[in-house]
Amino acid sequence: MQIKAPRGTYDILPDDSGKWQFIEKIMKETAEAYAFREVRTPLFEHTELFERGVGETTDIVSKEMYTFNDRAARSLTLRPEGTASCVRSLIEHRLYGGLMPIKWYYCGPMFRYDRPQAGRYRQFHQFGVEAFGSNNPYLDAEIIILMLEILSRLGLNEYELHLNSVGCPECRKEYRQKLIAFMEPFKKQLCKDCQLRYILNPLRVLDCKNELCHTAIAGYPVISDSLCDNCREHYAQVKAGLEANSISFIHDDKLVRGLDYYSNTAFEVHIPGIGAQSAVGGGGRYNGLVKECGGPDFPGIGFALGLERLLLAMDALNDKQLENDYSCVFVLPMKKDFEADAFKILSHLRRAGIRAEKDYMGRSTKAQLKYADKIGARVVLFIGEEEIQQGFLTLRNMESKEQLRVENNELVNTINNILHKF
Ligand code: AMP
Repeated sequence: MQIKAPRGTYDILPDDSGKWQFIEKIMKETAEAYAFREVRTPLFEHTELFERGVGETTDIVSKEMYTFNDRAARSLTLRPEGTASCVRSLIEHRLYGGLMPIKWYYCGPMFRYDRPQAGRYRQFHQFGVEAFGSNNPYLDAEIIILMLEILSRLGLNEYELHLNSVGCPECRKEYRQKLIAFMEPFKKQLCKDCQLRYILNPLRVLDCKNELCHTAIAGYPVISDSLCDNCREHYAQVKAGLEANSISFIHDDKLVRGLDYYSNTAFEVHIPGIGAQSAVGGGGRYNGLVKECGGPDFPGIGFALGLERLLLAMDALNDKQLENDYSCVFVLPMKKDFEADAFKILSHLRRAGIRAEKDYMGRSTKAQLKYADKIGARVVLFIGEEEIQQGFLTLRNMESKEQLRVENNELVNTINNILHKF
């Protein structure tokens, strides 16, 4: 039986990997401009880290983790997201005692046992940032602006930014009571999941996607009415930071995270028109998370963008920038006897940073020329008897069809001039 890639995973073939390199480069360059530095953490961690760091009542932990025992019977989990690992690393290396704030970014695969569909996979890729050590609301604004700048550098300007404040554990306590009291009379009308959420984590009923729940909770109390003075002021300053940068947003009361380690700012970005999975990224403050994971009381904020969904949105734009530019130089020995000479020149070009290729399939001269054209060669170098004896090469410019004699010591310069003229 033929073995295929596991459900929810896929290959990124060379014709597509240029897009991935492009998007990753833009993300990294933008984050670097905002003074974030890259961190790389393991792809698997102790299961307990995600139970604590993502939350046992979240769908990610209760239903979607790839968890397995290793040969020493330790429970390990393929990372479903990036924040918990960053927090673990920060604590493990005691970085909270150093220079503040700590600003990190990461990029790589994440794993969730989710139902695969367009824009949803079991192995997918996220680019994320985390900033630790400051509760300054302008840092929240900076993080949101960075996320939007990445979108705009990718040519994605048609997005919706949803914003909310979920307050601190103190104001949320009051809100939780209000919400429970409000939902009590019709809790039986909620979907099955929400009947459980209502007890464990009532705030999460608000962002349930089920229509039944939407209808049932119409007129629900909003969290902004329960914010304490500090949290109200924090939210006002985040909004001021965004407004100072002319960034528009939608205040969204439904954007909540029920767990105690989330605080204040919560945000999500949607790109309409890429299908049901329109959220391309989201994030927020998690001032209680470092403590929850065994570190000191240390604030943090971050976001994660989903690369697959961004690529979907970019495909919809049909962006010219994404086309693979795969031009090269083709070295063509006129006879089998000259293959070693061709091979030497090939290496010389490659060492000079020029993408170069030769034939490895025993093609005739004519077939080699055809092949060179197919793989996008802009220049073909012919090596024949005369060339070897007199130390020059015959260069054919594949676009102008012009042929010229180039001395060996001028080869790299001449080729670079031709390649850069395009
Ligand atoms: P989350 O970590 O759930 O807040 O997700 C952040 C972003 O990651 C989402 O907005 C999506 O763009 C992306 N994402 C999350 N889950 C998946 C998935 N299963 N497949 C593809 N992208 C995903």
